[in-house]
Amino acid sequence: MNKDGHVLNGALLAVGLGLILSVDPTSGLIVGGQSGEITADAVLTLGSDVAGSIAALSLPVILGALFPDVDTAFGRHRKTLHNLPVLGIFLVFPYFFGNLQFVWIGVATHYVLDIVGSKRGIALWYPLSSSEYGFPTGVTTSSDWATRVTVVVTALELFVLFLVHNYLVALDTPLSEATTLLGALVGI
Ligand SMILES: [Zn+2]
Repeated sequence: MNKDGHVLNGALLAVGLGLILSVDPTSGLIVGGQSGEITADAVLTLGSDVAGSIAALSLPVILGALFPDVDTAFGRHRKTLHNLPVLGIFLVFPYFFGNLQFVWIGVATHYVLDIVGSKRGIALWYPLSSSEYGFPTGVTTSSDWATRVTVVVTALELFVLFLVHNYLVALDTPLSEATTLLGALVGI
C-alpha cells in the first residue's frame, strides 16, 4: 500500500478505536440518568470521551502506520522494518519505558494492509528468513481499488479490535496492570 493508504488507514483506525474505547456496549450506546434515559449531559460526556480518545490515539497510530516504510530509505524495503521482531519491540516498549503506547497498533495495521491489501507481501520473519508473505487478495498500490481495499481492511480490523477489547483484553489496560500481566506471562 502507498503512503496515502497508510495515512487513511491510520486515521480511520484512530477514529474507530476512539469510539471502541469510549463506548461500553453492555450499557447501551448512551445511558444517562438513574433510569437510563438519554440526557444531554450523558451525550456531552460521551462526546468528550470519544473526542479525547481520538485525539490521544491519532498521532501515535498514524506515526506507527507510516514507520515501516522508512525502510524504503535504508535497508531492504518490505523486510527490514516489516517483520514481527520490529512489531514485538513496539509492543513491549511502553511496558519498559512508559511511552510510545499505541504506536504498535499503527505498525500492526501497516503490516495487515501490506499483507492483505497489496500485491507484494512482507518478510514477517526477517532477518531469520527473507520470504515474503501476502494474501492473493492484494491489489497494486496504484490501482483504483487501493482506497476501497484500504477502507474495507480498516473496517475488518476495527471489528476484530472491537471483539478483542470487549471480550478478550482491554486495549487501554493501564501500563502498570499490563506490566504485571506481562511479568506473569514471561515469569519474571
Ligand atoms: Zn509497507
